[in-house]
Amino acid sequence: MRPIYAELQSSLDALSATGNLRTLPHAAQEGRYLYAEGQRMLNLSSNDYLGLAADTALREDFLRHVPPHDLVFSSGSSRLLTGNHPVFDELEAALARLYGTESALLFNSGYDANTGITAALSDPGTLVLADKLVHASLIDGIRLGRGTWKRFRHNDLDDLERLLKQEAHRYKRILLVVESIYSMDGDMAPLEGLVALRRQYPHALLYVDEAHAFGIRGPQGLGLCEEKGILADIDLLIGTLGKAAGSAGAFVICRRVMRDYLVNHVRPFIFTTALPPVVAAWTLCVLRRLPAMSARRLRLQTIARRVHEALGRLSIPDKSATHIIPLPVGDSAEAVRRAHEMQRQGFYVRAIRPPTVPLGTSRLRLSLRADLSDDELDALLASLGSLFHPDAARISATDS
Ligand code: PMP
Repeated sequence: MRPIYAELQSSLDALSATGNLRTLPHAAQEGRYLYAEGQRMLNLSSNDYLGLAADTALREDFLRHVPPHDLVFSSGSSRLLTGNHPVFDELEAALARLYGTESALLFNSGYDANTGITAALSDPGTLVLADKLVHASLIDGIRLGRGTWKRFRHNDLDDLERLLKQEAHRYKRILLVVESIYSMDGDMAPLEGLVALRRQYPHALLYVDEAHAFGIRGPQGLGLCEEKGILADIDLLIGTLGKAAGSAGAFVICRRVMRDYLVNHVRPFIFTTALPPVVAAWTLCVLRRLPAMSARRLRLQTIARRVHEALGRLSIPDKSATHIIPLPVGDSAEAVRRAHEMQRQGFYVRAIRPPTVPLGTSRLRLSLRADLSDDELDALLASLGSLFHPDAARISATDS
């Protein structure tokens, strides 16, 4: 092997030695199930929280009614050239209307939105203050930007306030970056406190990534900011469409002037072929139904509550308050072993390891979904009992 490849191989060997080597799983999804290695498992690793991507009736309804002019599988270029199909404008107008704001702008993915917007807003006069646990896409964008950046302790408003007091007067723009529900821990940002702090600094912008709350939280499913009644206080609200919305892409909700700025400066918006219009048409179909899906949202909350209660009975540390529930393990190899055991018992749960989470904090992560049946939930709780607390295998949902 040429030395240049041998070096790559040895870095992979090092990952393997610590249980952190990633490989692509061979798995087929069908509804809420996943088929791998000849086994059918309940898919508890997907972000299809409401079961919309798995909903064949909804898909068939869409295919029956989609206007032929929207059934287009390539946009052919960037929206700034010839790719601005009318369905994108329609979808953005629908989003802006739902949020009661001036405008919305679509992106090809949440990764594009986060890297592109944070980088575009971070010029040499900007200080970016980001929560320690924000998603990799935000970190990558902040690093790409030309401003100064610091991270504050996770969900710690005192630490953020200290940094603001120390630093804010030196910069013309401050960008405060948080998620509403954290993807790896399932806990929630102190949004009201962040809004109050932001108000003390007129040159600060509050950026909230609602990737794991859009569709799920709030009376119309618009996210945690809607639930808390603070939509008007958020300068940039990001929703991703490949999770609860069962589609693909992402959007930002913002003022018109901000949208115009982003259209001119966000490189992953400017220099990429727009999403296939049929994807935007499908998103629009889902979006029109989303406000009325409170039964699915309620079901997800009920399932989450029952899992949290069971973890409490099993004395499994549980910092999550949502439908994303990490099961702490620590060691990566042990996390992989337990994930395999859960898979063997019919639940597709994966180990989350560094670099996704800090060293020594490997975990299993349950991504709960609204389309689980009661029997499936009972079986899941029994399985968790057997795996995390061998004496407690008898504890199941039926105890609750
Ligand atoms: N933000 C957060 C918090 C995420 O968890 C993710 C993806 N897991 C993204 C953004 C990226 O979204 P997308 O998958 O649409 O690129």
